[in-house]
Amino acid sequence: MKKFKIKKGDTVLVGTGKERGKTGKVVTILTKSDRAIVEGLNIYKKHAKPSKKYPQGGIMDVNSPIKIDNLTVICPGCKKASRIKMKNTGREKRRVCVKCGEVSDATL
Ligand SMILES: [Zn+2]
Repeated sequence: MKKFKIKKGDTVLVGTGKERGKTGKVVTILTKSDRAIVEGLNIYKKHAKPSKKYPQGGIMDVNSPIKIDNLTVICPGCKKASRIKMKNTGREKRRVCVKCGEVSDATL
């Protein structure tokens, strides 16, 4: 399984595209496509034809995934968008903020 420096539950900053500069919480990581769904971001309107599920058809909000390459983790320690480096504590790898040294509890 692939490992990303971004995990579900992280707050991330979007670096490119129409949501550039916005932040949100990661709700899903899509490992296969290297993308993440960020809460409230990259919503587009989808025009749906009437179907069994949506007999009226109409416009739906679809939460479109964003490439993980374009996301930066907001460090919970210094509240800044920061690069994350991996630190090997001996038993496990932990994520560490390069700016303030805050160690994320989450292991990868
Ligand atoms: Zn930090």
